[in-house]
Amino acid sequence: MDNGLKIIFVFVDGLGIGSSDPATNLLCGDRFPNLGKMLASATPLDARLGVDGLPQSATGQATLFTGVNAARELGRHVEGFPPARLKETIRRENIFSKLRKIGKSCTFANAYWIDDPHRIPPRRQSVTTVMSLSALGKVRGKKELMEGKAVNHDITRHTMHTRGYDGELIVPETAANHLIGLAEEHNFTLFEYFLTDRAGHARNRDLVFQTLETLERFLPRVGTFAEQPNHLFLLGSDHGNIEDLSTFSHTSNPVPLVALGTFAEKFQTLETLADVVPAILGSFS
Ligand SMILES: [Zn+2]
Repeated sequence: MDNGLKIIFVFVDGLGIGSSDPATNLLCGDRFPNLGKMLASATPLDARLGVDGLPQSATGQATLFTGVNAARELGRHVEGFPPARLKETIRRENIFSKLRKIGKSCTFANAYWIDDPHRIPPRRQSVTTVMSLSALGKVRGKKELMEGKAVNHDITRHTMHTRGYDGELIVPETAANHLIGLAEEHNFTLFEYFLTDRAGHARNRDLVFQTLETLERFLPRVGTFAEQPNHLFLLGSDHGNIEDLSTFSHTSNPVPLVALGTFAEKFQTLETLADVVPAILGSFS
């Protein structure tokens, strides 16, 4: 059965639900009113996954995108890029593969600014790269970016001039429109933004401010996608970081799951990162 559902999932790396102290959490108060309003509607998800230590990216993302508790499977939280054993789980269980098996079209919206993504060294392949290459066989590249058929990881392309990009910078609203355009052509469209985690690790107040300012303009526009019938907007994260300027490291805070539009209520009862994939699959049945 095809219920015609279309989903945009924006993954924001290192975004937790922090304290109400404006000195350490730039997201509280009214500095970013649109982003604040969106996050105020979020369901808090546990990112600790029943495993000691601070939550980390490889296991957190693998859990978020497979529905398998990867931290428990490996016995610890694993940072950075997934190790070989975790890649096997990602290839077998990822959301793209699961959706394709039930006849749904999927895409990863991020642009890869390289000629052959299959040549990325295995130790530098992120969770999303592993799942895109294994389930979809390809990722979007330079050509798609220049045609507005992909979104750069930094949204505005401002980091790309050092990498040989000689095109225009774009405003966050334009990038949001590109993402919405792609999402209209697929059942499930994923976009990954990781500069939040970088800014949190840098513990640089100006950089954190700029990063959140970009999201303040980008995310509410992407969220308008959910105003149409049978459209769902999701925002999720893997662990906390940027919401606490008192530390260079990740936090053990819960992470926000924002769901807007059709079936949003199905996501409001979820409890951990591992619950997201089953809820997405359930939305299509
Ligand atoms: Zn990190």
